[in-house]
Order: sequence, then structure tokens, then C-alpha cells
Amino acid sequence: MTVEHKIVVGLGDIKALIFECRKCLTRVSVPVEEAKTPHACPCGHQWLPDYMEGTSGPKLSAYQRFCSALKECRTLQANGSPFTVLLEFEAQQFEDKPMRREIPA
Ligand SMILES: [Zn+2]
Repeated sequence: MTVEHKIVVGLGDIKALIFECRKCLTRVSVPVEEAKTPHACPCGHQWLPDYMEGTSGPKLSAYQRFCSALKECRTLQANGSPFTVLLEFEAQQFEDKPMRREIPA
């Protein structure tokens, strides 16, 4: 018999969004209630302009829309939405990988 372990997390369980710089690996943790994409990492590496240029003019980036949607979905669920959204992860992927450092040495 094969037993698979999964981790299921509700949107309300998410404490913070962590943004990691791909250049210096510095992480910035932002509480979900205040979630918006930082413009740059603490070291100054540019992450996002305020708006992305779209075919019909400037628009919010997908990351900014993601932060807004997450907050809105949590509000809907807190106000009695008829369903909830859960995120599923393989438990093994958390057990086998070493923890990443918050700030590189
Ligand atoms: Zn950086």
C-alpha cells in the first residue's frame, strides 16, 4: 500500500507573502493584509515598476493583481463565500529539501 502525505493550506492560513530577490536571495516578508509587491529588494535590485505597459496602456503587474486577489478572496471567505480555496502540497517536498537561508552569508 502506498501512502501519500499531502499538506492542504487554506487562504486564511497564509501568514505572509515572502518575496525573494533572484540576484542576492534576500527575502522580504509582507503580511497578507498589507500585501503588495515591493518595488525593489533591500539591496536595491529593481523588482517591479509601479505599472506594466500593456497593449491598452499601463496595467497592474500579475504580481500586484495576485496580492489584491489574495486579499479579496480572503475577505470573500471571511464573509461566508459558499466555497473555500485550498492549496495542496506534497508533504515530501518540505521534508526532503534543506531550509533556505533568509539572508545569504
Ligand atoms: Zn537583491
